[in-house]
Amino acid sequence: MRIPLCNLHLPSASIQEAEAALADGWISGTGPAITRFEALLAQKVKRRYAVAVTNGTHALEVALQALGVHQGDEVIVPALTFVSPAAAARQVGATPVFADVDENTWTINPFFLPITRHTQAIIGVDLLGHPVYWEHLEHIGREHAIDIIEDAAEAHGALYRGKPVGSFGFVSTFSFHANKTITTGEGGAVVLDGAYFNEQVRLIANHGMKPDKRYWHEVVGSNYRMNNVTAAIGVGQMANWDQQVAARNKVAECYDIELGDLLKQGDLRRRPVADFATEAVMLYTLTHPNRDKIVERLQKNGIDARPLWTALVDLPIYRDGVRGNYPVARRLAAEGFLLPTWAGMPYETIAEVANAVREAVTERMPVCSTSTPSA
Ligand SMILES: *Cc1c(COP(=O)(O)O)cnc(C)c1O
Repeated sequence: MRIPLCNLHLPSASIQEAEAALADGWISGTGPAITRFEALLAQKVKRRYAVAVTNGTHALEVALQALGVHQGDEVIVPALTFVSPAAAARQVGATPVFADVDENTWTINPFFLPITRHTQAIIGVDLLGHPVYWEHLEHIGREHAIDIIEDAAEAHGALYRGKPVGSFGFVSTFSFHANKTITTGEGGAVVLDGAYFNEQVRLIANHGMKPDKRYWHEVVGSNYRMNNVTAAIGVGQMANWDQQVAARNKVAECYDIELGDLLKQGDLRRRPVADFATEAVMLYTLTHPNRDKIVERLQKNGIDARPLWTALVDLPIYRDGVRGNYPVARRLAAEGFLLPTWAGMPYETIAEVANAVREAVTERMPVCSTSTPSA
């Protein structure tokens, strides 16, 4: 693609830190960069503890395991998200049960949750840089004694009423995959406040082995450790976290301006931002009833626009978690699309993408089709 969806430029601090880690021989799942990365991350998102792990999907798995979620339990997840929350629930043996998302935030709708006596946890996803209705969801968690997990993988730097994502729920998780705002290539983290659960997460992530008793395995764990070189890449980005976030928001602002008149006309809509939210745009996202045609046109022009995810309730493997119709998630999945967005994306490139969107949107779309009668 001529214009990719994402384009990564690691800050030089990341390269220097990684080189130092390599030169020092710290290349496995213990080392000074891991400790520093965890401390910086915890501080940034206002948590007492952070545990660096292999990726954001494993972060969710470890969190669910630490909370004791297992077979027979239900975990409520939004119907519209990247698949990880549902997959993680399934990996620990639980059933992911879907809740629709809400029009104004595209995040889980706290007023229509399919809670049953089997519900052990609810995973709220700060979708594409927009926080969940955290006060409502946390309140429901307390009221029903259900653990609330925050999946902040797509929202580094977003705020809910001024408070950073990563600080909500009993435990939050991050991904540092290459297309996220802060990245280590592959990587993730679990962040939380409870000392006991911090120990549990570390135990599970490190073969279930007691830290002070080698080869004594307290629980069935696995190896979910981030490696020290990866952590070093992360350390190099912690100092310019705010700049990375601002840089993507700036791209979104430029798209808003370039597409301003079209966005006022109706059919083309931007992902909304609720009044309680300070967004941290991950990828600039729009909806349009003619999404498929528009994305096809953009792709033909060498622009790597992408349709939004399939609603998870439409994946046959997750059919057992469907409860109802999910009109919002299904509409957004059918109409949503992502535009190329990266920190430092040149203005001319943004303008070019915006112009291509304009052409695709204003092109007359076929509204009915005919076919040749067969002989
Ligand atoms: C990216 C992402 C994850 C985790 O991704 P990994 O690639 O496993 O790090 C989890 N949840 C959401 C919502 C994501 O977008």
